[in-house]
Amino acid sequence: MTDRAGKCHRITALASASRERSLTPVEKAGVRFHLLMCGPCRAFVHNLKVIEQAAHQFNGQNNKS
Ligand SMILES: [Zn+2]
Repeated sequence: MTDRAGKCHRITALASASRERSLTPVEKAGVRFHLLMCGPCRAFVHNLKVIEQAAHQFNGQNNKS
């Protein structure tokens, strides 16, 4: 069980890092495979994307005015 929690921690760390650097093919495969089995991590990655999109929209509105 602790093994799984450790894996989730690693996956969410990788997902966060992927915004700043490209993941290696092995890392990407690991993340994708883990997301297939793990709902909480799927939700985490989804939230990352939503936050990122919201930030982009906010920046776009700022630039217009
Ligand atoms: Zn997980």
